[in-house]
Amino acid sequence: MDKPLVVITGASSGFGEACARLFSSRGYPLLLLARRLERLEALGLPNTLCRRVDVTDRAALAGALLEAEALFGPADLLVNNAGQMLLGKLAGQDPSEWERMLDVNVLGVLNGIHTVLPGMLARRHGTIVNISSIAGRKTFPNHAAYCGTKFAVHAISENLREEVAMQDVRVITIAPGAAETELLSHTTDESIKQGYDAWKEQMGGVISAGDIAEAVRYAYEQPQHLCIREIVLAATRQE
Ligand code: NDP
Repeated sequence: MDKPLVVITGASSGFGEACARLFSSRGYPLLLLARRLERLEALGLPNTLCRRVDVTDRAALAGALLEAEALFGPADLLVNNAGQMLLGKLAGQDPSEWERMLDVNVLGVLNGIHTVLPGMLARRHGTIVNISSIAGRKTFPNHAAYCGTKFAVHAISENLREEVAMQDVRVITIAPGAAETELLSHTTDESIKQGYDAWKEQMGGVISAGDIAEAVRYAYEQPQHLCIREIVLAATRQE
C-alpha cells in the first residue's frame, strides 16, 4: 500500500533532517519545510516537496500543505520540530531572543497543528508529533525562556491529545536530552555556549539526531489504536 504524506518542519538540519532521511528511506512521501530551502533541496530525497516556509507564517504553512496534498494525498503525520534555543540569563539577555523562541517554539508549533488538524479530524486519522525537550520537563541554568517554551509544548501536546483523542488523532510528545545538532550554535552568549559544550564533553558525549528520528518512527509506526504519549530519551550519563 502507498505510504501517506509526512510533513516535517525544520527539516534543513538536525532532528528534522534525520527524520526526513529515515521516513524517506521507508518509502514515505514528504513535505519538508524550513527557511533554508537550499538545504532541503540538497537532501535530494525522492517524492519530496521542499518549501521555504517560516513556521510563524500560517498562510505559508497552509499553502505548502495544499500543494503537497495535491501531489501525495492527505498528510497523516506532522513532525512539529522547528525550534530555536537561545540560552541566556534573563537579566542580561536581549528580549528579542525570548520573542524569537516564543514565536518559533510555541506559536510555530500551534501553527503546525492548526494547519494539519482539520484534515486529520475530518478523516479521523492522523498523528501529530511535537518535538519538545527534557527542558520541557525540568529546568537547567540559563534556560529560563527556552524552558518556558518547551514546558508550553508539553502542555499544548497533553491538552491537544485530550481534545482530539475521541476523533482518533494521536498526539505524541518527544522529549530529547542534549544532542549533537546546530541548535546551540545560535546562542549568542559565548561563555554559556562554552559551558554547554563542556557539560556535553563531561558526560562523554550526547545522543544523535538519528536517535530522535528512530524514536519518532517507533511512535508513529505503532498501530493507530495505540498512542505512545511521550518518549523521553537522553544520553545514559545525562542527569
Ligand atoms: P537545529 O538547529 O539543527 O535545527 C532546527 C531546525 O529548525 C532547522 O531546520 C531550522 O531551519 C528550523 N527553524 C528554525 N527557525 C525556524 C522558523 N522560524 N521557521 C521554520 N523553520 C525554522 O536543531 P535541532 O535539530 O537540535 O532542533 C530541532 C528541535 O529539537 C527543536 O525544537 C529543539 O528545540 C529540539 N531539541 C533539540 C535538542 C538538542 O540538544 N539538539 C534537545 C531537545 C530538543 P532553518 O534555519 O533553515 O529555518
